[in-house]
Amino acid sequence: MVSELRDLHGIGPRLESSLNQLGIHGVQDLLFHLPFRYEDRTRIYPIGSLYPGARVQIEGEVEHSAIVRGRRAMLVVVIFDGTGRINLRFFHFRAAQKQQFSKGTRVRCYGEVRAGFRGLDMVHPSYKRILNERDEAVSDRLTPVYPSVEGLGQASWIRLTDQALALMKNGSLELEELLPTDLGGNLRVTSLAKALAYIHRPPAGADVAALVERRHPAQQRLALEELLSHNLSMQQLHQRQRKFRAPAMKLEPDLESEFVGRLPFILTVAQQRVIEEIQADLARAHPMQRLLQGDVGSGKTVVAAMAALRAVGNGFQAAIMAPTELLAEQHLRSFREWLDPMGIDPVWLSSKVTGKKRQLALDAIEAGAPLVIGTHALMQEGVQFGRLGLVVVDEQHRFGVHQRLALLDKAGTESLHAHQLIMTATPIPRTLAMTAYAGLETSVIDELPPGRKPVKTVAISNERRAEVISRVAAACAAGKQAYWVCTLIEESDAVQAQAAEDVARELQAGLSGVQVSLVHGRMKPAEKQQVMDAFKSGAIQLLVATTVIEVGVDVPNASLMIIENSERLGLAQLHQLRGRVGRGDQQASCVLLYSRPIGTLAKERLNILRETSDGFRIAEKDLELRGPGEVLGTRQTGMLQFRVADLTRDQQLLETIPPVADRLLSENPQQVDKLIRRWIGDTSRFAAV
Ligand code: ADP
Ligand code: MG
Repeated sequence: MVSELRDLHGIGPRLESSLNQLGIHGVQDLLFHLPFRYEDRTRIYPIGSLYPGARVQIEGEVEHSAIVRGRRAMLVVVIFDGTGRINLRFFHFRAAQKQQFSKGTRVRCYGEVRAGFRGLDMVHPSYKRILNERDEAVSDRLTPVYPSVEGLGQASWIRLTDQALALMKNGSLELEELLPTDLGGNLRVTSLAKALAYIHRPPAGADVAALVERRHPAQQRLALEELLSHNLSMQQLHQRQRKFRAPAMKLEPDLESEFVGRLPFILTVAQQRVIEEIQADLARAHPMQRLLQGDVGSGKTVVAAMAALRAVGNGFQAAIMAPTELLAEQHLRSFREWLDPMGIDPVWLSSKVTGKKRQLALDAIEAGAPLVIGTHALMQEGVQFGRLGLVVVDEQHRFGVHQRLALLDKAGTESLHAHQLIMTATPIPRTLAMTAYAGLETSVIDELPPGRKPVKTVAISNERRAEVISRVAAACAAGKQAYWVCTLIEESDAVQAQAAEDVARELQAGLSGVQVSLVHGRMKPAEKQQVMDAFKSGAIQLLVATTVIEVGVDVPNASLMIIENSERLGLAQLHQLRGRVGRGDQQASCVLLYSRPIGTLAKERLNILRETSDGFRIAEKDLELRGPGEVLGTRQTGMLQFRVADLTRDQQLLETIPPVADRLLSENPQQVDKLIRRWIGDTSRFAAV
């Protein structure tokens, strides 16, 4: 049996280390290093039939070659095949190369056709001279192109994969079939060996478009195996985690009823139900692994506070982690308000807490301070929790899976692990439920607090901006507060801040007597805090903001929101933003400003927001209208890395996974380990959790 890279011909230490860099450590890995595109060298195209943009193989005789001296010397070779002429252009060339292209030489090239000054060009094609009959044969397979690193050319990849494929074919490479042949239903899968052989060397006439998009059945077969492996690894991780011991937290009736009694509202039935589910988990001597879903405004924070209180009441630490500074600060404020009367003072840690303050916070955390609130900073090195009993991760879709797991790494000692509560407002696409969140228990808050009236939503063209501004003026005069959200897509913080500053100036100029302020991502935390405090207290009536306020900001008196460029945002994001108003008992409104011309699709999307405030329906519609590609940003994929699979492209594969995964886990745990090792590699870091 062959498995080591060194067993192949032509692999020395240098090549081996290049391969290692790409995560290739054995011959099997080589086979899982897949081409990302293909060149069709199975045919020779008549030059007369070419058009710019085509990537093709051509062949002809050298008519003329010359070194043209301009700003940079260039070797130009004119090829003629009886149907037309094309110029080969080389900017990098050796003097000897010109000799190779002597008049009359037959040359075969592969490259991209471009429109040049003098007819068609091919810039730096790959080429070979046809010197004898042996050179004439055309390939009967498509030529794969592999992702590579500097110094490792395509010829080496072909040489290496040729060897690996041959070993696979003659049975001297161990390549175990790990998918059960019977996947249930009438699904049939190609064997792994067949699929790999096809992907590395597709026959002439193969569907190149499908291959490049990785929709070919051979690739889908691998994608399925990969997705299954991710599902299994997450399930296994959560299963393992559950086997550890965790503090069994008893009911603290006094503390909890005091807390509930002090709340300015009554918990909804849904909140009470999920609190009970969480508390039942906390009472067990094994770590909770629970996902809490609830639409924007459904009141997840108070549920988190109840869980934290249970931990604190039992003498353990609770850590609350949020993805943005602003949201974490918001939690800090809510928790302070709720828990201060009970003598619980949260410790605050974000990356902006530095120097002596940071040291003080770290010391308090290590000494076992009951409640810790912060951002990613909580996961960083140097943060040592003394008695961590509960971790709450809010708006988890903003974090990567690995970040969440990193926090778990901190979760206490060998003997005691922390409970884990993950909260998210975005309806989770099935793709994520089946990968990043596989194996978590779920609770859903499916009810909004009473008295919430759906936010009245209108879409108005930016041409009527002046009208909208006077509407803001009227609302502010009537004692209401408003947000004006400036949105720019994928621009830097600096550009966003600038745009927001301009708008704030415009609005202040147009709204005498209204206190306008600005909050954006470039401000210092203390400044942001000051503005948010002033807004919350009512000293500011109009808050101009970038999308930093998208998540979690809670000012119940704000009842009007204007969103600029709304046609360019995703529905889920608009829904999140709009969720910042309608949190009190007054009727709230949202104005979606758009610029003309607006496409029918964009219009339809804004209509959906006008019609419904149900986050799940909005997400579904969004998926339907835009396709999954745009709906699931990279952030939402939890930063999972896939080699073949793609969470948006391969949605239809996901149906297959749960039953197969369940069967493998219960009947064939060894297979599970092998799958995980093949696709995800060494998970020992997580296993140590
Ligand atoms: P989200 O689920 O979006 O995080 P929050 O926890 O921020 O929602 O709650 C939204 C608002 O609703 C907050 O102002 C919160 O105090 C309030 N709230 C939460 N639960 C209730 C309830 N049962 N009745 C009335 N208001 C509530
Ligand atoms: Mg929230």
